[in-house]
Order: sequence, then C-alpha cells, then structure tokens
Amino acid sequence: MEVKGVPKQPGDELLPKNIILTTLDTVLKWARGNSLWPLSSGLACCSMEMMAAAAARFDLARFGYEVFRPSPRQADVLIVAGTLTWKMAGPLKRLYDQMPEPKYVIAMGSCANAGGPFADSYSVVPGVDNILPVDIYIPGCPPRPEALIQGMVELKRKIQHPGTARRANDE
Ligand code: SF4
Repeated sequence: MEVKGVPKQPGDELLPKNIILTTLDTVLKWARGNSLWPLSSGLACCSMEMMAAAAARFDLARFGYEVFRPSPRQADVLIVAGTLTWKMAGPLKRLYDQMPEPKYVIAMGSCANAGGPFADSYSVVPGVDNILPVDIYIPGCPPRPEALIQGMVELKRKIQHPGTARRANDE
C-alpha cells in the first residue's frame, strides 16, 4: 500500500505478499533487545524493587526480561541494584568479566549511580561507573519497579538503535 508523502522503498512490492526483507544484524539486535537475561545481583535495598519488578504485579516478563540467571555465564545484563562497597567491588567486577559479550550494565538507584546517601563514606564506591561501563542510569532512592522497567526498555532501544539519542518529547 502506498502511503502519501512516503517515498517508495525497494522491496515495497513484496509487502502485500507478507514478505519482509531485512539484515541478519537487524534480526540479531531485535532478538537481543527483546530477551535480556539479567544476572541476579541485588546488593542492598534497591534490590527489593528489582524483585518486585519481576513479580506478578509489575510483570517484567511482559517485555521478555524475566529470566534472571544465577550464573554470570548465562546472563547478558548486570543490574547493579543497591549500594556497592569497595569490598564488594572486586567480586562484582569478576562477575561482570565472566559474562559473555555482548553485555550491558544498568545502575539502579542513587547508590549505584553516585554513592547515594553514602557518597562521602570511605567504604562505598561513589558510582558503579568507577569500575564498570554503565549503559543505563536509573535515578531514585529507591527507584520504583516501573522505573527499572523503563530503564530496560531504554536499554532495548539502545541495543536495537545504537547511536540514536532520545529527545524529551519523543513518544
Ligand atoms: Fe537503598 Fe536508596 Fe541506596 Fe537504593 S539508592 S540502595 S534504596 S539507600
């Protein structure tokens, strides 16, 4: 079907026959973004909200992200949910290193973002990005489960459309 104002694309004539042309790279990104497997890695109070996001009321499973894995070798997204202490920094980095590529990191809550209320403490890492590359930052103390879900949907957008920035008034 021709849409007014939209130029014709190569392969448009195949659409009425339910044939879609794409690239393998696009299919891989689509699959990756729709089936993120988080590592079970709650560190402090924010992890209660992470667990709530996966439970029936908020139902993270609707988006395909419910398969929390206890092994880093089976996970592709590390949700740092809570306060990261320097003592825990080494083990967390080791877990991240054991995850296969491609892998992603979500900093959930003020503590993971920048140390939160403990930012001046000698024992707390003032932001997980001091030891790991962070893809998504979720503000809040703690963020609600909906905020984590929005963060994961944003991560999906980053995976499927790398290099695109989201404007405040985008849908
Ligand atoms: Fe706890 Fe707030 Fe830190 Fe989350 S951000 S771990 S709720 S103190």
